Amino acid sequence: MEKEEATKKQTQDKVVEEPAKKTEEYVRPIRKSREEQAKEDRILSWKPKTKLGKEVKEGKIKNLDEILNAKRKILEQEIVDTLLNVKSDLIAIGQSKGKFGGGKRRAWRQTQRKTKEGNVPTFSTMAVVGDENGHIGVGCGESKETLPARDKAIRKAKLNIFKIKRTCAAFDCACSELHSVPFKVMGKSGSVRVILIPAPQGTGLVVANELKKVLQFAGIKDVYSQTFGKKRTTFNLIKAGINALKKIKVEEQK
Ligand SMILES: [Zn+2]
Repeated sequence: MEKEEATKKQTQDKVVEEPAKKTEEYVRPIRKSREEQAKEDRILSWKPKTKLGKEVKEGKIKNLDEILNAKRKILEQEIVDTLLNVKSDLIAIGQSKGKFGGGKRRAWRQTQRKTKEGNVPTFSTMAVVGDENGHIGVGCGESKETLPARDKAIRKAKLNIFKIKRTCAAFDCACSELHSVPFKVMGKSGSVRVILIPAPQGTGLVVANELKKVLQFAGIKDVYSQTFGKKRTTFNLIKAGINALKKIKVEEQK
């Protein structure tokens, strides 16, 4: 009996050993996208002009929260680029031309100035940046062309970045993940009012589509909401949402 058991053990060991030898995985080299490459180049060729920028470039400051807690003003977008891995997106605040008011939602808001020589169009847009982990910023840019307007908006959004507090505060949810707002918050801009309400896990974002982007980038996964006023004005809707988030901003910790 003992011998049999011993042989069984041996065979089992062999069976266990064999697949371990075969595991030679082919590691695919990670290729960077064009945007990532451009971002890296920008950071490398960055010559800081402010004191804060120099400290970041030298590596004295390794965390964005240090800057935010000390309430120092960020004046260079590369500071945020170096310290955080942020994503950016545009919010559709404009409308393309269409008959009977049927214009499609568009990222560029086009306005015109009348002069003697003719009409001078201007494009403006709104950008949102965030790391999906509590940091969020929104900014607007305006220019005669579309692309400079986008760059300006993204730059301003990075300079406006702030940190929010997230918890699991819903009464019918008992997890320890940071997935919702800590309590009911209200923000307003123009006639638009937005109320964000804590929700249990699995609810998703129960808000307007454009505001969804902002909350997603901030790292909030579940929230209920109530809106009042003329919420078709996306510009004010987003600003109201940001004002609500500013109420749960993380202030200086003592
Ligand atoms: Zn929860």
